[in-house]
Amino acid sequence: MAVPHPPLLLRRVAHLATFDDDGTELSGVDVLCRNGSIEAIGVDVDAPDATVIDASELLVLPGLINAHQHLYQVGLRAIPELERALIGPWLGGLGARCLDWWDSGRLTPTFVEALAACGLAESLLGGVTTVADQHYLHPAGPTQPFIEATIAAARALGGRLHAGRGTLTLGRKQGGSADPRLVQSSTEVVRHATELIDEFHDPEPGAMVRIDLAPCGVHVDGADVFEAFAELAEDHDGVRLHTHLYEAVDTAFCVDRYGITPWQFLQRHGWASDRTWVAHVVDIPLHEIAQLAEAGVGVAHLPAPDLRMGWGTAPLREFLDAGVTVGFGTTGSASNDGANLLGDLRLAALAHRHHDDPARWPTARELLWAATRGSAACLGRPELGRIEVGAAADLAAWDLGTVDRVGVHDPLIGLVLSGLSDRAHTVVVAGQVVVSDGHLVTADERDLARRANELLLGP
Ligand SMILES: [Zn+2]
Repeated sequence: MAVPHPPLLLRRVAHLATFDDDGTELSGVDVLCRNGSIEAIGVDVDAPDATVIDASELLVLPGLINAHQHLYQVGLRAIPELERALIGPWLGGLGARCLDWWDSGRLTPTFVEALAACGLAESLLGGVTTVADQHYLHPAGPTQPFIEATIAAARALGGRLHAGRGTLTLGRKQGGSADPRLVQSSTEVVRHATELIDEFHDPEPGAMVRIDLAPCGVHVDGADVFEAFAELAEDHDGVRLHTHLYEAVDTAFCVDRYGITPWQFLQRHGWASDRTWVAHVVDIPLHEIAQLAEAGVGVAHLPAPDLRMGWGTAPLREFLDAGVTVGFGTTGSASNDGANLLGDLRLAALAHRHHDDPARWPTARELLWAATRGSAACLGRPELGRIEVGAAADLAAWDLGTVDRVGVHDPLIGLVLSGLSDRAHTVVVAGQVVVSDGHLVTADERDLARRANELLLGP
């Protein structure tokens, strides 16, 4: 359960976008947070015991939810030889960097914790209150507590974390495409995933930490892991299934090796379930989209990495038309090269304008819905992504009083399409202020950066 914090009152919110079922938007109202939840929304809410924030120049949204991230990749940004690389060389280059960390003794839980802390801090500063991380970097052999370190970073900073137990289990020797030095046995990953669930997974509404089961993909993991994870998820309330799907490399591999598409692979191995959400989904055969909707499988839309890797854009309008649950994410910093989710929403708003018909272009509200309600649905978190009485007190607020927002006629369109300032003004998680006036409250941002940079340079 969320740790209770003193009550908090946002007084006279300039514009409140609730993202409730009706898309209600209000002006001049107060929002009262107590015991980690939203207790009241209304005019002149009486709460003498609450800490008051003047919200009269703030646009307030539900905290954004990043439905796909690899936090350790903060250490892999802007690598010159990977600036322009297709997926094959890119994966190879990334693996080489990670093995260099491992061989030089730098890849330790402390190192992962320091990098994850930077990624989480960047997320919070950008209004992202929940991050779904997928940590698949586990060199061969017994598991190091890297995911445990990521959880510690999230707890210290006050963000919500879905810690995905990522895997690479199908090495080149087994016919897969993972580097053998980064491959673990399926027995070991299932053992560790079970241990993580037992130790950290909180199935209750308002949970700060949940565990998800997240094989890296069908080209680097075999059917045994997918099936074992599907069974494990079924046995644990709130544990969900997540993987990369249709990111070009897995499509060709799956057809070559199994004679089926990646989606058919998931169907065959117990993943066609509303417990599953998948990332990217760029080159999906269009006729399969309705099948994803029918099965209740969510899609994390990730336009920045999709474009960076040269894949173009995923069929977002087709997903929405078919009734697929669409969340939104950034992926890790090796292919983004950051965690600026709001910036990626702007990119999505522009990148999908290649249709002749403007009615098919995504609106700011559709994209913000994906980054709040859609991501929450992917993660199985109905209490997140909305501002309603009883929902979690996760809020992100942007300043409407800055020069870059002068003349904005619609604050939500303005948030997505205009603006130099993606950093949020105020961010609240479970009723705790974690960002105030654009500054991180729960840690010193520059200290986090300095520590990570020192560890990246090594001894
Ligand atoms: Zn990814």
